[in-house]
Amino acid sequence: MDDLDTRFADCLHFATHRRRPGEPFEPAIVNTTIYALPGEPQGQYQYARWANPTWTALEDVLGLLEDAETLIFPSGMAAAAAVLYSQLGPGDQVLLPSDGYYTVRTAADKFLAPIGVRVRTCPTAAVEREALDGVKLVWVETPSNPGLDLADLRAVAQRARAAGALLVVDNTTMTPIGQRPLDLGADAVVSSDTKAVNGHSDALFGHVASRNAALMAGVRDWRRICGAIPGAFETWLVQRGLDTLEVRFARMCDNAQHLAERLAQHPKVRAVRYPGLASHPAHALARSQMRRFGALIGLTLASADAAERFIDGCQYVRPATSFGGVHSSAERRARWGEAVDPGYVRFSVGCEPAGTLWRDVERALAAVPG
Ligand SMILES: *Cc1c(COP(=O)(O)O)cnc(C)c1O
Repeated sequence: MDDLDTRFADCLHFATHRRRPGEPFEPAIVNTTIYALPGEPQGQYQYARWANPTWTALEDVLGLLEDAETLIFPSGMAAAAAVLYSQLGPGDQVLLPSDGYYTVRTAADKFLAPIGVRVRTCPTAAVEREALDGVKLVWVETPSNPGLDLADLRAVAQRARAAGALLVVDNTTMTPIGQRPLDLGADAVVSSDTKAVNGHSDALFGHVASRNAALMAGVRDWRRICGAIPGAFETWLVQRGLDTLEVRFARMCDNAQHLAERLAQHPKVRAVRYPGLASHPAHALARSQMRRFGALIGLTLASADAAERFIDGCQYVRPATSFGGVHSSAERRARWGEAVDPGYVRFSVGCEPAGTLWRDVERALAAVPG
């Protein structure tokens, strides 16, 4: 962990280590579509759909954090699409999680299947046993969303390699602070930085990171040609958010552990899902592949009504979809038609002081039917 701590400190000081006297400490927001370009085109800055200095500043830091080449996108889905659409073509087979982020499956069904990509799905907890013959790309999200099941990344990476398939991990819920799929053998990581990486619920964003140069060349071409590019201002917001990622994520995960342990003892709570609890079916795996256990808790209350009353009754946990922000939020996932218990609440734990948060949750639970 010491090596990673040094890496996190180097990320924080990436820009400061490179500044000459009199230069601004912080990266500039560069709004331009064109660059001075006399004679034969040269250098990386020729046209702003291809490159922008504000992107470069963030990609350098995210790349150091991921320990891999990194490309940024205007949303998590734009990052996911760049990987899927640049790597898959007619006749290929892709294996997606049946219990992962829903829109990734929709994107594959709507735009990949019609061009002849065979789209298969399997549950996250079963992917390490799934037959991979003929599969070109395996997509894993661990913990899964919203069920918080785990996949064994080392085992899946080994099997994917043996089958000649690429393993892509959507690491949104964990961030590179909490889990490092590339170090466990994944070929690429996709992240929705809309969530904890930016962390302030004010910008949609995403990135792809990989040590596979051919894969990244495809992803870069996709962005440059199809134009799924982030704005300079959003890029700067994420750069600013990233400076506090390590401290925010530590606080969020500490809070989540604190709450999960107490929720598990509470008489109004039927079940708690959190990888950091010994009761999680894959807790041993969580200990071996996750640096932190994350900021998402799944809790099941008696009914949809109990869940809604719990969420309404909290003062510091606000009703919203999404997760990973500094403010705690929660929602009943069945409201999106997901195959979960009607009383299942996905609780995104934020940065509020732990004691205050628990007192709030306890008070709201007291008013809920059991
Ligand atoms: C939110 C999310 C996405 C999509 O990200 P956007 O930034 O909303 O496009 C992808 N994967 C996971 C796991 C997510 O939570």
